[in-house]
Amino acid sequence: MDYKSIYENAYELMDVQIVDGDCGKLCNHHCCRTYDGEKKMGIYLMPYEWESMLEDSEFITNVKLEKHTSFEYNIPHGIGYLYYIDCEDEFGCLRHLRPIQCRTYPFEPHIEKGQLYLAIEKDQIHNCPLIDKREQWNEEFAKRIYLGWKELIKIENIRLMVQYDSKYRNIENNIKIKLSEMEIFN
Ligand code: SF4
Ligand code: SF4
Repeated sequence: MDYKSIYENAYELMDVQIVDGDCGKLCNHHCCRTYDGEKKMGIYLMPYEWESMLEDSEFITNVKLEKHTSFEYNIPHGIGYLYYIDCEDEFGCLRHLRPIQCRTYPFEPHIEKGQLYLAIEKDQIHNCPLIDKREQWNEEFAKRIYLGWKELIKIENIRLMVQYDSKYRNIENNIKIKLSEMEIFN
């Protein structure tokens, strides 16, 4: 499977801002911050994302990379490992190379009975000020994020990850909003 082409399509589809301009100005770049109190904070890349899109790019100058395995972290065994990154300078983001996690937030991909949805979780570590202001969102945002995930879940390990996270989201009753394909496109 050509992971790189899938990622290139997804990066293009998901190159969309939730609102016009830099939303980070509304919250002092809360979802890019590198510390939560004393605790260092980073983000997980999707399976094969580092190898397909980032390792040969200028993105590497800005990040610290750790490899987290299924044995040490809460990662499904079938996946094996994920890369975890810390952005060294959240104000100097290379936006065109920002990872999937940064493009999709505050939406999370969610699969139930084989159908893909976009979900917003109740439990928000970022307290995004835009979550309750959906009327201000760019009309294209949900559509393009959905299409990007539709592309990405063609990769089996990504689908596995999404199914794994969806299962726990349901068990923990951690869904604030869940949008189906029909709700997004109508
Ligand atoms: S928390 Fe919300 S408003 Fe702030 S940078 Fe993230 S997406 Fe933008
Ligand atoms: S890549 Fe950019 S958008 Fe993503 S966490 Fe780092 S600074 Fe923020």
